[in-house]
Amino acid sequence: MKAPGTPAKIQNGTIASAEHTIHLGLSEGEVRVTSVARRSGPARHAGAEAYPGPRQAPPAPRPGQSRRPQARPMPVRPKNRPARVGARGLLAAIIAGGLVVIALWWHGSPGVHGLGGWLTGAGEILGLLAGYGVVVLVALMSRLPPLERGLGTDQLARWHAMGGRYVVSLVVAHALLIIWGYAVGAHTGVVSETATLLTQYPDVLMATVAGFLLLGIGIVSMRAARRRVRYETWYFLHLYTYLAIALAFSHQLADGASFIGNLAARFWWSAMYLTVLVVVLWYRVAVPLLSYRRHRFEVLGVKAEAPGVISVYIGGTRLDELDAEPGQFFRWRFLTRSLWWSSHPFSLSAAPGSDVLRITVKNLGDHSQALARLQPGTRVFAEGPYGALTPADSDRGVLLLAGGVGITPLRAIFATLPGHVTLIYRASSEGDIVFRDELDAIAAARGATVHYLVGSRAEIGGDPLSPRVLRSLVPGLDEQDAYVCGPAGMTAAAVRALRAAGVPAQRIHFESFEF
Ligand SMILES: Cc1cc2nc3c(=O)[nH]c(=O)nc-3n(C[C@H](O)[C@H](O)[C@H](O)COP(=O)(O)OP(=O)(O)OC[C@H]3O[C@@H](n4cnc5c(N)ncnc54)[C@H](O)[C@@H]3O)c2cc1C
Repeated sequence: MKAPGTPAKIQNGTIASAEHTIHLGLSEGEVRVTSVARRSGPARHAGAEAYPGPRQAPPAPRPGQSRRPQARPMPVRPKNRPARVGARGLLAAIIAGGLVVIALWWHGSPGVHGLGGWLTGAGEILGLLAGYGVVVLVALMSRLPPLERGLGTDQLARWHAMGGRYVVSLVVAHALLIIWGYAVGAHTGVVSETATLLTQYPDVLMATVAGFLLLGIGIVSMRAARRRVRYETWYFLHLYTYLAIALAFSHQLADGASFIGNLAARFWWSAMYLTVLVVVLWYRVAVPLLSYRRHRFEVLGVKAEAPGVISVYIGGTRLDELDAEPGQFFRWRFLTRSLWWSSHPFSLSAAPGSDVLRITVKNLGDHSQALARLQPGTRVFAEGPYGALTPADSDRGVLLLAGGVGITPLRAIFATLPGHVTLIYRASSEGDIVFRDELDAIAAARGATVHYLVGSRAEIGGDPLSPRVLRSLVPGLDEQDAYVCGPAGMTAAAVRALRAAGVPAQRIHFESFEF
């Protein structure tokens, strides 16, 4: 076994040592590598991709030369693919839960009398729905595998953001209606009733603090405000939601008419909160810690791909047990002095190997810029795999449509998805194209087609992603499945164009690089 830090030999884009060989696609001298005393085991995933080196892949055909399929890609399918919950199933479950909550109120409220009674009743229902809503919101972000694989993190984040707006509105309306209803019932003014509620009702003061916390977080999360604050500032402020939920919990049981005197309801409500707490702690804390211990992720090397774009190679043990698929991403936390405190999502840019993973990162800000300076041997904390951009095998053809750095997950899928695949890669300049050699080599090896759409609309002479252009580039497009990944604006425009070109909505899959 070599001593840590001993550089492995780099030959023809392959890192080789007596113990360990990984094909990294790196030219001599481009990479800093520590010896990794780990032997490459046989890949457990069928079709796990050999990490491409420049001389491994067959050359792209010359113009006019036909592309004969030389290698049939094998799907990379984990042995233990978790169950998936679809959007409709999840929505039905959430609505059913809401109906049970309303039934709970009905059961606990024998009669409603007068204006005060109606206002108070409405306030109680909204309060119960808000209490249920926060549990749903936390569950959506709990990293529960069936949700992550079924809806994808970006869709869950969109549901969470939309649901958050409803819940904050419910909380505010609950407080106002309860104050008003109690004031009408007690024939007092709303100011004196507010003071009574705050000082004489158990835990209402804490719940009020919680309500203001939720309102503040909701305001900071609004699109206009969020654009003005750093992602990290918004993220850490957002964590105060957990404090707000804890502060508001006890007043529900102490003051809610549905719970006073109903032990079963109190038990059920507490069990719901406890279950979600356990799920969050398990999937957001325990599973990543166990994974860190089991897989011992560390940086193997960094490679420049294009101006402002680098690939980071991450080694580890028993990586096949992660059950990661091409198209998925991890949240990566690089344990250096300046980077350890924040984790960032990056997709796998090649199919997962049994002892190496690759991500490819565009320099967009402080964090992504700093990754170029990562040293081999840096320990990495990886949370995942996440994401639902994982195509199922299909008899239909598949279109992969990438914009900019959105090529990363699609590059991994392109190499491994069986069947007929067309890749369209939109980039603003030739210099922005990443993986050109790899993509051409994969296309040649599997007999697939790649179209590079490069330049501004003015340079190209029109919209390169119009329905007409897409149909001309992809014969039989309306019969195919389409996978889109790129900047938010390009993704939205591409999805519209695909719909207009006749691709049914349920066959268009996309992932946004923004939560
Ligand atoms: C599912 C997913 C997969 C991604 N895959 C890739 C990839 O393969 N290659 C690639 O180059 N980029 C990828 N990204 C984008 C990448 O995560 C951001 O560009 C990166 O986190 C920016 O961080 P920064 O500090 O360098 O830039 P900043 O200037 O701080 O942030 C730029 C933008 O990135 C987003 N962002 C910043 N920090 C985070 C964070 N911790 N978590 C989530 N979003 C954040 C915010 O929208 C922010 O406005 C992916 C994003 C998502 C959501």
